[in-house]
Amino acid sequence: MANSSDFAPVWAELRGQPEAVEQLAAAVRNKDAGVHHAWLFTGPPGSGRSNLAHAFAAALLCPDGGCSTCKSCVMAAAGTHPDIEILATERVQISIQEVRDIVANSYLGGSMGSYRILIIEDADRMQDHASNVLLKSLEEPPANTIWMLCAPSEADMLQTIRSRVRRVGLKVPAINDVAALLVERDGIDLATAHRAAAEAQSHVGMARRLATSADARNRRQDTLRLALAIDTVTSAVLAAERWLDIAKKDADALTKERDLEEHEQLLRTMGLAPGDTIPPGLRTAFKNLEESQKRRAQRSLRDGIDRIMVDLLALYRDVLMVQLDSNSPLVNEFLKPQIEASARTSTAAATIDKLDAIAQARLRIASNVRDLLALEALAVQLRQVSKKR
Ligand SMILES: [Zn+2]
Repeated sequence: MANSSDFAPVWAELRGQPEAVEQLAAAVRNKDAGVHHAWLFTGPPGSGRSNLAHAFAAALLCPDGGCSTCKSCVMAAAGTHPDIEILATERVQISIQEVRDIVANSYLGGSMGSYRILIIEDADRMQDHASNVLLKSLEEPPANTIWMLCAPSEADMLQTIRSRVRRVGLKVPAINDVAALLVERDGIDLATAHRAAAEAQSHVGMARRLATSADARNRRQDTLRLALAIDTVTSAVLAAERWLDIAKKDADALTKERDLEEHEQLLRTMGLAPGDTIPPGLRTAFKNLEESQKRRAQRSLRDGIDRIMVDLLALYRDVLMVQLDSNSPLVNEFLKPQIEASARTSTAAATIDKLDAIAQARLRIASNVRDLLALEALAVQLRQVSKKR
């Protein structure tokens, strides 16, 4: 299997996705023959779909196919490249005006390089009427304009858009691949790496955090233990409050860690060491990075809450596995006795109801129902009612 080190440096962040990287690196190699004007990158959260778009954009604009060190690559990494326009939103929906603005920008033409690249992160947040504004530009694109859309899955996009884009799917890496990556890259022992990869359900960033941070591990364990201990409405309300608190702490930790990493990466890209004085000419790049980090911080609480939902889904799937006498390994082996006890005191039908309730709560939170309300409603539905139905 090809490995990310076989590709230009700009692809380094896309570990574990050799097929997608190969497809795009080939498009960059053959760009003289023409580059398709619209791409859709799909993959689950944590798989790196916007990283993929950003790397592809940088690679196309770089004279060396993505060297990571030239002026063009440095600006692309810093978010200051004049030929890359990014539409990222913290809102639940992308407004029609935002799409009109970026479409208008697509007609400006490249100023430095040969392409004008427009990236829409979370393209699934466009409603139909906003999608239709974009569609016109996809049907009759200005020369050398390249659209890159990112979404969780193809199904999130209108058929009319899907038929005009070239699709690149990121896969959920296998647990063993994620574990191997943690061992190789981060020097983590195999047992710890494997457990973290399983518990993170192959989310690479989460797996690394679980493997390296006792706080992150404890927060995850608390989340699950709280769920299994809910027996009254009062304990449900308390569990919901604790979950929200855990999500906030998790979001904080994640934000700080990611911000620092990006800052150091930008320093390295510019040939500076941590602590060096930043030359005046480069300060804009750092200011820009800080601004985009601030924007993102507003979204990370949402991500923290969603992480809790994903963990709860895995927990009740484990309970269901035991109830159905499946011999497949549990995601949460460390909780086996508690999971078995929970399985004994309820029924598979009741567990399926709980899984539905979690899926419902995810939808509610995504559609802006107040976090605590949604969590409380969920916690009440997760109560362990020790009565066979
Ligand atoms: Zn370059």
